[in-house]
Order: sequence, then C-alpha cells, then structure tokens
Amino acid sequence: MQAVQSFKNQAAGTLYLVPTPIGNLGDITARALDTLRAVDLVAAEDTRHTQQLLNHFEIKQHLVSLHEHNYAQRVPQLIEELKAGKDVAQCSDAGMPSISDPGKELVAAAVKEGLPVVALPGPNAGLTALIASGLVPQPFTFYGFLPRKHQQQVTALSELVNRPETLIFYEAPHRLAKTLAALAEVFGKERKVVLARELTKRYEEYLRGSLGEAVNWAESQPVRGEFVLLVAGNDHPQASGEAPAQAADPIEQIDAEIARGLTTNAAIKLVAKQRGLKRQELYKQYHQL
Ligand code: SAM
Repeated sequence: MQAVQSFKNQAAGTLYLVPTPIGNLGDITARALDTLRAVDLVAAEDTRHTQQLLNHFEIKQHLVSLHEHNYAQRVPQLIEELKAGKDVAQCSDAGMPSISDPGKELVAAAVKEGLPVVALPGPNAGLTALIASGLVPQPFTFYGFLPRKHQQQVTALSELVNRPETLIFYEAPHRLAKTLAALAEVFGKERKVVLARELTKRYEEYLRGSLGEAVNWAESQPVRGEFVLLVAGNDHPQASGEAPAQAADPIEQIDAEIARGLTTNAAIKLVAKQRGLKRQELYKQYHQL
C-alpha cells in the first residue's frame, strides 16, 4: 500500500486532474481556477479549446496537448516534467478528464512512478444526468460510448440486458437514433429510458419514456445537442444473468438467449455471430421451426 504519496517522491510535482464545464462556464470551481493559475503547465485535450477557457478567466498558462493520438510520446514527457518538480494540470474539453476523454494513460504512468495525483471534483455529464433522471441512482453502471458498429453494439448490449442497475451511456447526436434502435432491439421496446439533453445549457431538457418511444422520437426529427442516455435496470432478470453455456444446437442457444431476456432478433444475431453462421439463414431456420 502506498498510503501517503508524497513520502515516496517529495521533490516531485503533482499531477492535478481538473474538470471543466460541460456547457456552463459558471460551473468551473474556484479550486479549478486556482489550480489552473498555479501549476507550471496544463496538458489539454485540445489546446485551442482550453485556451479559450483560460482567456475567459484571464489565466495565462503554458499549454501542451494530450490526446488519443499523441499520448504515447506526450505521457513520458509529462512524467519527466513531474519528476523534475513541475506541477501539471490535465484537463479535457469538457467534464472530468479520463471519463470518455483523454487522461487515463497519464494517470496510470504517474501512479506507476509514485508521483502524487490529485483529482479535483467538478462537472460530469453522466452523474449530473443520473441524479435528475428519476431512475434508481445506485447501483449504476457508467458505460460511456458503445461501439459504433451495429453488431458490436448488439454484442455489448447482450452482456448488459439482465443487469438490474441503471445504465449510463454517452452518444453523439448523429448516432443517437441508431443506438436507441439497438437498445430497443436488445432490451425490448418497453424498457424505460431517460435522454438528458444539453445539460447545464440554455435548452437543457429531460425526455422520459420507453425505448420504443425514444426511437420514434429520434427517428422523426433531426437530433441536435449533446445527450446522456440512462436506461433503467432490468427488474425481471432471467435466470442468473450469465450467458448460457453454448448449446450444441444453435436453435436451443437462441431459445436460451431469449429466456435470458434478449429479443428474438437480437438472440439470432448474437448466436449467428458467435458461431460464424449467416444471420438470414439462421433466422429462416429458427422461424421455420
Ligand atoms: N468527460 C466528459 C464527462 O465527464 O462527462 C464526457 C466527455 S465525452 C467526449 C462527451 C459526451 O458526454 C457527449 O457525447 C455526451 O454524451 C456527454 N455530454 C457532455 N456534455 C454534455 C451535456 N452538456 N449534456 C448532455 N450530455 C453531455
């Protein structure tokens, strides 16, 4: 156990993880501003974006970029700066660093080197949406972004279909309708969902209903703004919630997946994928039976 970080590395600088507003500049904390002023440099997901934030608060800082395309080179450089006694603040474009955003590799490297890491509390879209959603606030699973490809979404969601806790997803507006359709396909159209839109901004709203209603809504108009999707947990989980052991017969396996809570189509897709079978053929075979 490493109870007191600074024992190990007293001369080292500290890595501060600084959350930034998710739409309302008034949500930055006094401590975040003090930290951004006081550190030796700021590692930002997008330096232009963070520069605008710093300009707004009249903070002059040295900025370097840290994102998914340069972390392999940048993390070792930042670790050297920390070892040399420099304090570093890391922030993303919006919300908590590392939460569906860059940062985790830097934190892991700093922890590995025994360097002090301090996280500041602050804005986060998922938790903000959760507490106003009206869904059961705990336990919950924060999933973040689902895979983009439909089949991979179905596979990921099949693992979650029996989970009793509230599920939190992020999604981009132009993919919202398709992701909601995949959720309805796997979880069923009746499952409750809350769409938390444009949190902390002028047009903030919560849309509450079933997945079927949400699909209709998203398909009937252009979807704009940022969204958190919160899906109610399964209050009638089937069996143990574990994936059924693979039956010898694919038809039996489909039935087992349906008994576990998947819709027929989702079960056929999943079994076809797992066994490398053609979905259409399996579909015909299942329905002829
Ligand atoms: N690090 C951020 C956090 O702590 O929430 C999340 C960043 S992630 C790249 C961006 C996603 O978060 C968006 O696609 C959306 O799903 C969600 N999000 C961010 N800001 C939001 C807002 N103001 N309202 C609703 N969702 C938001």
